[in-house]
Order: sequence, then C-alpha cells, then structure tokens
Amino acid sequence: MKYADSVIDLVGNTPLVKLNSVTEGIQATVLAKIEYLNPGGSSKDRIATRIIDAAEREGLLKPGGTIVEPTSGNTGIGLALVAQQRGYRCVFVLPDKVGEDKRNVLTAYGAEIVVTPTAVAPEDPDSYYSVSDRLVREIPGAFKPNQYANPNGPLSHYETTGPEIWRDTEGLITHFVAGVGTGGTISGTGRYLKEVSDGRVTVIGADPEGSVYSGGTGRPYLVEGVGEDFWPAAYDASVVDEIIAASDAESFELTRRLAREEGLLVGGSSGLAVAAALRAARDLPADAVVVVLLPDGGRGYLGKIFNEKWMRSYGFATESEGSTVRELLA
Ligand code: PMP
Repeated sequence: MKYADSVIDLVGNTPLVKLNSVTEGIQATVLAKIEYLNPGGSSKDRIATRIIDAAEREGLLKPGGTIVEPTSGNTGIGLALVAQQRGYRCVFVLPDKVGEDKRNVLTAYGAEIVVTPTAVAPEDPDSYYSVSDRLVREIPGAFKPNQYANPNGPLSHYETTGPEIWRDTEGLITHFVAGVGTGGTISGTGRYLKEVSDGRVTVIGADPEGSVYSGGTGRPYLVEGVGEDFWPAAYDASVVDEIIAASDAESFELTRRLAREEGLLVGGSSGLAVAAALRAARDLPADAVVVVLLPDGGRGYLGKIFNEKWMRSYGFATESEGSTVRELLA
C-alpha cells in the first residue's frame, strides 16, 4: 500500500511545471515550482516542520507546549498543521485588519487566535508585538518560532527546496528566482544551489516596489507575503546576485494571467516572482533554465486579485485578452 504515515510526510517534493504562455518571445526554459501543492497550501509548511523539529531537539518545545507566533498567513497554517499532529497548542496573534476567512482557516486547523487592534503604536501594551511577547512570557512552556530570525527557516529550504530543484532539473538550472519576505526561501535555496553548482546558478530576488530589498523605505504595497520595511536576520544578502522590483499592477496582472493562461491559481507573490523571472529571462539564451518559486495558491485572494471590483477600486486593469463573462453578456 502506498500512503504517507502523516500529513507532515507530504510536505515538500513539489513539482516543476514549464510556463508556456506568459513566456511568449522568451527562448529560455522557465519552470515554476508549485508550492501550493504542500498540504497546508504554501512553502511555509517546510519551515514549520523544520522549526518545530529543531525546537523539540533543542528542548525549547516539550510535550504539552504551546507555540505562540504573531502571524496571520501561511506560516500560521504550517505551524498549526504540524502542531496538531504533534499534540501542541497553537496561539496566533493577529491584527484586526486580518479578514474573517484567514482567521477561520487558522481556527479550522485547531489554532487559537488573539486579535489585536491595528490602530495602536507598536509599544502600546495592546499592540500585535506587545501581546505576543506577553503571551510568550505568561503561557508556561510557550515557544515562539520567530520566523524572521529563526535559522531553521532558511535551513529548511537549504535541505529540501534547493536539493529538489537540483534533482528535478538534473543540475541544468542556471537561474533561481523567488520573492523575498523573511528572506528564508531565497537565502536557503539560493545557498544550496550556489554550493552544489560551484557558483554557476544566478540567484534573483523579486521585491515589491517600495520594500527595503530593492532600495525602498517600506512604502506600502498591496502584494502580500513579500517585501519588508526592515532587514530580517533570515535574509542572507550574500547569496543574492540581483534584486528585481515589480509594481503591484504588474504582479497582479501576471497573477491573473497565470490562472487564465497557465492553469495555475496562485497568490500575488507568485505573480511578482514570475514578473521578475520573465524580466530576467528576456535576454537569456535557449539553453538557460530559470526556476521560479510560486509560494502559495490563489484561493486566499479571491476577494482581491481575482475580484474585478477590488482590482478596479485600486485602479488596476483587469481585462486580459480573453473575454470576461460580463463582456459576453453586454
Ligand atoms: N509569498 C508568500 C505568500 C508568503 O507568505 C511568503 C512568506 N512571508 C513569501 C512569499 C516569502 O517567503 P520568505 O519569507 O521565505 O522570503
């Protein structure tokens, strides 16, 4: 019988698929690594597994312990999934701007959530940061993964994402492109690919315009999960050869095209990464192999990137080449 012993054993080993339509006019092969096929739906399942394994080994997390992290997104799902399988409690601190759907996903996995007001200063005792620090102090056996600084985040990608890409491209990869949030994905995967190829693989970070990685000051942008207004310890600038910035408009247009033309319903940071990958691939020869990592699926963004009204409210174009239902009915 072929089966996994636990859902945790299904984390990783995601496939590569060639992009055939958005790559029109490009000679290089562009392959997308489909991280939404992880059981929790994103690349963050990888770091959750590695972070919890390490915390158990180091005695930071003991039976009956509680995981406390300020997170509303994919990291929370990954942590909740691994925590329930191992019998830990999970408490996530979220700002009140996080929508009901995202809260419900976390509670569906059995996590508890504490909602904090957005409209207070970071040093306010009710702020996102203060509340999570207080919970860590007050809950006995609490462990805070701190994905921005935990070295096991990048290590999980060094140990899994990098080797998978090298194996599946049979060592033919020439360029690796990934969006940069905590920096864990690009730092860990990039370091592995550089080492194994003797520096032959070029590592390219994709960053939303306005974020620090591309020289911004933290100016707001709408694409989620990527870009920062500070430099996290999980980011290792020494493995990144180039940063390519893309606008929200370009990222969202590509996100929508990936669904419509490539059959890949993915999130906005995937559109951002593909925008950067296409720009990098434009002048590359036919034997170049560009691998671009798509961190999560598009279901969590149906009310935003895939919603005409939301897109238009921010002034983004929504009409791609095909016809929408509305046009057909008009
Ligand atoms: N895209 C999404 C949707 C994410 O949740 C994250 C993680 N913050 C990233 C991209 C960036 O990954 P990393 O934190 O490893 O840089």
